Amino acid sequence: MSKADPDLAKIVSEIAQEMSAREDRGRVASYIPELANVDPARFGMALIDLDGHVHLGGDADVPFSIQSISKVFTLTLALGRIGDRLWQKVGREPSGNRFNSIIQLEHEMGVPRNPFINAGAIAVTDVILSGRAPRETLGEILRFMQFLADDETIFIDHEVAASEKRTGFRNAALANYMKSFGVIDNPVDNTLGVYFHHCAMAMSCRQLARAGLFLANNGRNPVSGHSVVSSERARRINALMMTCGHYDGSGEFAYRVGLPGKSGVGGGILAIAPGRASIAVWAPGLDETGNSHLGRIALEELTKRTGWSVFGH
Ligand code: GLN
Repeated sequence: MSKADPDLAKIVSEIAQEMSAREDRGRVASYIPELANVDPARFGMALIDLDGHVHLGGDADVPFSIQSISKVFTLTLALGRIGDRLWQKVGREPSGNRFNSIIQLEHEMGVPRNPFINAGAIAVTDVILSGRAPRETLGEILRFMQFLADDETIFIDHEVAASEKRTGFRNAALANYMKSFGVIDNPVDNTLGVYFHHCAMAMSCRQLARAGLFLANNGRNPVSGHSVVSSERARRINALMMTCGHYDGSGEFAYRVGLPGKSGVGGGILAIAPGRASIAVWAPGLDETGNSHLGRIALEELTKRTGWSVFGH
């Protein structure tokens, strides 16, 4: 089987087997019990191509906490709400800092570097919240996810959200700091409440890959036929995922994998192979930049074996 016509079923199942057998698993997030108690031996992978063919490996149907991967979808909603005016509240440059860093905010007058670091994602959530009640906003985000994945079983894990809130002092600091510069319009507690809850959505690799499929197909879900965003917007969201989706590990991810990707501290990664497929992986152990250790390696193996990197094969 040549790279031009890769045997995807075989590649996905082989990668899942290889990842399950590895001993280097990274370290699971420890800041809340719900993440600290996840078994680091888990590994799941789902790849859905533009014909709708689904290839699954390992724990592909086990829901996990998607955490910051939700930021791709809140960004999509915020752009739908206010279009390019969003860029007055948040930048589009990689930060080179940790996901929850506060230092850049002072230099940049409370305007976060990009929509995927925590400060940027909180500012994006604030935009979606404006003009609505928190509960209504959260319902909108959850329904958007269910619509994209065509799956009404997707849910918010309220225990995860409660733990995030209980321990989220740094996110509260980021939000209050931005509020002092007028970047946050709503009461900080409301914005943070919605943010913590959308990070607490639980999804499987299969559901996540399906939800991301529109980004692999110029903004239109090829299975349902629904147009989600314009092709220009899809291309731009992919660009932000490539440059900012892994925080200060974004350069390394581009170098090794070469696909737009967004990670979450629950160990998930959503990666987009434009024109080809949407891929979700889950391996709970993280590396020192807070990104899934084996998730990244699995995607690196995928692009090696398929030649799918956007930078050439
Ligand atoms: N809810 C997490 C936080 O705000 C999300 C961080 C992440 O996934 N990197 O700290």
